[in-house]
Amino acid sequence: MRIELTGVVKEYLSGGRTLSILSGVDLTIASGSSVAVIGPSGSGKTTLLGLMAGLDRPTRGEVVLGDTRLSDLTEDGRAEFRATNVGFVFQTFHLLTSLTALENVQVPLELAPSSVRRRPSEIRDRAGDLLDRVGLGDRLTHYPAQLSGGEQQRVALARAFVTEPRILFADEPTGNLDRQTGSRIIDLLRELNEEKGTTMVLVTHDEDLAGGADRVVRLLDGQVEGIR
Ligand code: ADP
Ligand code: MG
Repeated sequence: MRIELTGVVKEYLSGGRTLSILSGVDLTIASGSSVAVIGPSGSGKTTLLGLMAGLDRPTRGEVVLGDTRLSDLTEDGRAEFRATNVGFVFQTFHLLTSLTALENVQVPLELAPSSVRRRPSEIRDRAGDLLDRVGLGDRLTHYPAQLSGGEQQRVALARAFVTEPRILFADEPTGNLDRQTGSRIIDLLRELNEEKGTTMVLVTHDEDLAGGADRVVRLLDGQVEGIR
């Protein structure tokens, strides 16, 4: 699914002052392509990802995903659109602490609209298979608190993949992984991108990950510049 941002501005009000984070971003990402977003800490990478995913709304400007202009949707409409089209891996994982790894990965499938919801046994199998692919086949019944940071990150990745989203957003998806696990995750992302045609937007400091992307863009002073 294609992503198009036009004149996207994001400002925060802070202590009576306006803090400008994004100052008019124009960016088009072709359907099925992969883009790495780089930039210094605090430059607005996480903010940009949240706006593209419809988790947050721009102060001005438009975000269009496929044929859908996000500003035309209500909050519920955006949530529904995200549930069927978008996978998101948060920098801080956001796993549900009272659920096991397997249950966490099952959640997006259980929240699917009833018309497309799979049978419980199928949901369990799919979630288990995804956890296997991220190397956690032997951690299915662990709770987040019983997992290392890197393992929690991989559960979050499996949860984002499990619905086969048209677009995957991932905020530093290899940030907590050792080199070997990181390269396994990079392979998995590439596989998803190539096999399923998933559009990928990845915030990363990882040169291996950025190097494999079709394009690299840098955020600096509220603007996006293409660097490759
Ligand atoms: P990055 O991911 O590139 O490190 P962020 O997008 O997280 O940067 O943040 C960009 C800037 O916006 C930071 O200076 C941060 O302090 C500020 N910011 C982020 N969220 C908020 C908020 N809810 N209210 C006020 N300022 C915010
Ligand atoms: Mg960030």
